[in-house]
Amino acid sequence: MNYAYKDTGRTKIIYADSSDIIKYKGVRCYCKNPSCNAKMFIHNPEHPNFAYFQASGKPSHNGSCGSIYNHFDNSKYDEKLFSFPEVLMNLESKPSGTKPTGKSSPKKGKSTSGGEKALKTIKEIYKMATNTPPNDSYNGVKIKNILADVRSYSDYKDGIDGYHLVECNFYCFDKKEKTIIMNFPFLPNNKYYLRLCFKDEDLFKKEYSRFYDTGHTGIIVISGLWEKKDEEYRTKTIKAECTIKSEKQIAIIKKK
Ligand SMILES: [Zn+2]
Repeated sequence: MNYAYKDTGRTKIIYADSSDIIKYKGVRCYCKNPSCNAKMFIHNPEHPNFAYFQASGKPSHNGSCGSIYNHFDNSKYDEKLFSFPEVLMNLESKPSGTKPTGKSSPKKGKSTSGGEKALKTIKEIYKMATNTPPNDSYNGVKIKNILADVRSYSDYKDGIDGYHLVECNFYCFDKKEKTIIMNFPFLPNNKYYLRLCFKDEDLFKKEYSRFYDTGHTGIIVISGLWEKKDEEYRTKTIKAECTIKSEKQIAIIKKK
C-alpha cells in the first residue's frame, strides 16, 4: 500500500514515498482499514519512490484491504486529465468499435516527467483511490467522494447518492426481479445492502455467472449513478441502488 498509519487511532498518516521513510524500517504501522489489525511494515524504504507497505505475520488483513492492488504508480498517469464524474459516465456507454482515445500504447523508453494518460477504467481509478487516504484529493476531487468503501463509510451510512465507485461484495441474486444484492461495506464490515438493477435481461444473465464465481468474498467494484433507498430486505436494509447499463461498470478485483 502507498500509505499506512502510525497509530492505532488512524490519525497520523505515513506515506510510503516520504523522504524520511527509512526511519520506519522495522516499525509496526497500521492498515488503512480501521477495522483491520494487520501489522504493516515498510518495504524498500531505501528507495522511497518504490517503497510500499505490506502486512506481515498474524493477524492477516480483515477485509478488502488485502487485495492485490497494494500499490499505485502515480508516474504513469497525468492527474490533470482526470475528470470526475465524467470518467464514470463514460463507463455507462456501450463499448464501441472505435476506441475513444485509442492511441494504443504510449511510446515506451524515455520516461518523461509525469504520466501521459488519464485514469480511465474502474481498475485504474480504484487502484489510485484505494491507495490514497480518503481525505486526500486527486485532481481536486476528494478520494472519499470518488470511492465509497470501509474507510469512508461514515460519509455513506445513510446511503449512496450520485456518481461513485463502490467497493462491495456479492450477497444474493433476486432472480424474480432480475437484480443483484450486494454487501456494503465489504465483508466482514458490512452494514447494509445495495441493489444492482440491469438495463436488460441479457446483461443480468451475463453478470450472473461472473458474480456467482466470486462466492461472496470476491472484491467487486461498481461504477454508476447511485440513488438512496430505504427498504427492508431480509436481515438488513437496502440503502442504495444503481442501474447497470454496460459491463464496463463492473470490475471484479479479486475472485475469491
Ligand atoms: Zn488490512
